[in-house]
Amino acid sequence: MKNSICTVEQLKGFIDLSATEEKKLRQIVKNHPMRVTPYYMSLIDWDNPDDPIRKMAIPSIEEFNQQGDYDTSGEAENTKMSGLQYKYQETALILATNKCAMYCRHCFRKRLVGLQTKEILERFEDAADYIKQHEHINNVLVTGGDPLVLENEVIEKLLLILSEIPQIKFIRFGSRAPVTFPSRFNDEELLRILSKYSHPDRRIYVVTQFNHPKEITKQSIHAVDNLIKSGIIVNNQTVLLKSVNDNATTLVNLLNRLVSIGANPYYVFQCRPVKSVKNNFQVPLCRGIDIIEKAKAHCNGHSKRFRYIMSHRTGKIEVLGVFDDEIYFKYHQAKNRKRLGKIFKHPVDETAGWLDDFESTSMQMLDAVPYPL
Ligand code: SF4
Repeated sequence: MKNSICTVEQLKGFIDLSATEEKKLRQIVKNHPMRVTPYYMSLIDWDNPDDPIRKMAIPSIEEFNQQGDYDTSGEAENTKMSGLQYKYQETALILATNKCAMYCRHCFRKRLVGLQTKEILERFEDAADYIKQHEHINNVLVTGGDPLVLENEVIEKLLLILSEIPQIKFIRFGSRAPVTFPSRFNDEELLRILSKYSHPDRRIYVVTQFNHPKEITKQSIHAVDNLIKSGIIVNNQTVLLKSVNDNATTLVNLLNRLVSIGANPYYVFQCRPVKSVKNNFQVPLCRGIDIIEKAKAHCNGHSKRFRYIMSHRTGKIEVLGVFDDEIYFKYHQAKNRKRLGKIFKHPVDETAGWLDDFESTSMQMLDAVPYPL
């Protein structure tokens, strides 16, 4: 990580920048830091200005566009103490760090990654006390930033504290390190720690984020394999990103390859309308549905087990599809539990990229479809 590319000066070794571009990029990097590992830099095709890997890693002047918000999922309103969020009955979320191996340009926590922040958990013990007082919590998502770039001792301390809470049935780490910094998983000490705390009856999951088939390399396959061999279950959350993976061919290649390497497709996320991100990366929902349905037509059962999800302030909303000029959604997770499983619809709006883009008066709730039908 010490050898990462973090400054515009370093970037000039790879691309030509005019004086104006250089000045603008310096401003962008000041607001939202750049960090790209030498490994991830090596995946970029510098002859292609539209290279998808480059788009996810290298700052662009598009980031001056400030449409959107910095907290699109209501994280502030679910924060119970610095670094601990509680939104869904069964899950506690810990922000363990603001650091990552790479600062992805599409990150939805752009407000804090690589920046001074008070949003990070200070004492794991405080989070453990909160969890113990909330008996419905049965799993913890440790995220950030990227918790698997923390020092091994810190990861072990966290696992020790969480594993002493009997109600916790599984622990998830959200980490893009297998994709951006796969050599992290050559560290035998880290693998030993993860293996030690991943028990047959209380597994550790790593939820990673492969977004493009070019990210599936000999090194990242090896990282996933080392995790699996250590008793870790690996799932994948892809973000649907404009000019990165917003076509069925790329998506189907990615999803099928993910199943091959044992990183199970879990969600495809609608890109959130985050400042400096929305304009550059978000695909309208109708287009997203079209891409995903076309991709699914070429997926096997395993590679299409994922759900297309909008992680909204009110809950995780599955984007079901379009029928008769209406777009249908379903509450997969809901902050207000009365909404769980509820289906609703809005008239099609070709430009809408987020629930709030529809007229709220056009929303029509339907009764949840009973199961079995
Ligand atoms: S690794 Fe994850 S948290 Fe870090 S910048 Fe990328 S998307 Fe954001």
